[in-house]
Formats: sequence, structure tokens, C-alpha cells
Amino acid sequence: MKNLTSSFSIKQESKSTDLIVSINSKKEILFNKKTKKFVHNVPEKLPSQKFKIFQSEDLGIFLVNELEHLQEECEYLSKRFLYSYLDEDSLTLISRAFQIYDWIYKQKYCSRTGNKLSQVREDLSKHCDSCSRDYFPKMSPCILAAITFNKKILLVKHNNEIRTLSTVIAGFVELGESLEDCVKREVFEEVGLEIKNIKYLASQSWPFPNQLMMAFSAEALNDQIDIDNNEILEANWYSEENLPQIPPEPSLSNTLIKNTLKTMT
Ligand SMILES: [Zn+2]
Repeated sequence: MKNLTSSFSIKQESKSTDLIVSINSKKEILFNKKTKKFVHNVPEKLPSQKFKIFQSEDLGIFLVNELEHLQEECEYLSKRFLYSYLDEDSLTLISRAFQIYDWIYKQKYCSRTGNKLSQVREDLSKHCDSCSRDYFPKMSPCILAAITFNKKILLVKHNNEIRTLSTVIAGFVELGESLEDCVKREVFEEVGLEIKNIKYLASQSWPFPNQLMMAFSAEALNDQIDIDNNEILEANWYSEENLPQIPPEPSLSNTLIKNTLKTMT
């Protein structure tokens, strides 16, 4: 599937040449075990609610909820089981599908008045009749930071569910903060290092639950690590030859670590 472009419509009808993504009420996504894909041909009987979420050249991709009849080679996969099938294309697809699903089906009330919001509208907004506010889906910006010093890269083990992997510094952007300030703050908080030459590399949408990840590299002024024991279990400098186990593709941390190793001085 080439050139997936975000496109949203509640009105557009699906053609027989279009494709669907299906997510059920347990937030499991329909997967074809034979093709290893998360997109499917439009079945004869579609659930009544469908939302166009992508345009890819001349075909549309529609988000629907649970299908009544499943083909034998299809099953609904929970988050835990879909990681191993992710590549860049499927991550783009899943990321938008899950986040739009949450917006449509899980975000139901106005945060000011508690009033029930309208159904989603053509511009993806929902409206509160009580306070006349329009709401749009939200995402959480996060930074990743690969820090280098003297041809070594700093990798840490975070105190979270994935303790076996060593990765880059990560954190949520604070309200009112620039991305560069966030990188400086997170690096100082987590490992006590001051940095210079902050460079942007790339970004990636991550749907568990709604992060927009932005990857940076920077150079440390010295190599004296002082770790924050609440957030970090361990932090070390690594050369390219003795890397520990890092996050797999297609995660942005993987891209950032590999790119930093290639370009570090
Ligand atoms: Zn309201």
C-alpha cells in the first residue's frame, strides 16, 4: 500500500475496490493470517457506521467496527499480539485507525460541562450544545533524545513495562515548552547531563495510546551520568561494537539509535 494520505469523511460511501480496517469493542483489530495484513476487501455486509480515514491513490480506506461474519483466515488481534506484525506501513495505518476509533467511540463528554458531545462531524470535530465548544481529537507530543559523547551513545533502561530493552531518553512535552527545551529538561532530569547541538531527525505517530514521537540527537558536555532512580533503572555509554538489545523496527527509537551511531563524532 503506497502513499497513504489522511482523509476523513463520515458521508462517503465505500466502493467495491476500497479497503477496510475493522476494530471491535474490545479494541482488537482485524488481521488476516494469510496475507499478514490489517486491511481487507470490503465485505458484502458492512456495519452501518463507517468512516473514511485514508485515501491511497484511487482507493479509500474505511474504519468500521466489528464484522458479523469473519473469513476463516481472519481474526481480531489485541495490542499485545500485533507488535510482531508491525512495519512502517501497518504502523501508519493502525496508528490513525486506533486513534480515530478512540475519538469516535470513547470520547463522549464535554470536559467543561459534562454534557454529551455530538456525533463526530465531517471535519472530525464534536460539538457541545451546552457550552457551544467544538472539540478536536488530541495527541500527546513526546521527545526521544539520543545523546552522544566521544563516539559513544547513551542508552538507558526505563522503569516501565519494557525493562529488558536499552533505549534513548524519552519524555512528554510540558505545556508551554518548546521541543528543544523539553529535550534539555528530560536529559537533565533523567541522567543529569547538559547538552549542546540538538538536532531534529524524524517523527512517528504511536497509537498506544496517542503519542506523536519526535526524535532528536544531541552531544553531552561531559560523560558524568547521574541517574534519576524513579524513571531510570540503568544508564550507560555504548560504542557501536557493544550495543545492548535495543527496540526493534519500525519504532522511531530504533531509527534514531541506528542513525546516531552512523553519524556520531
Ligand atoms: Zn460543553
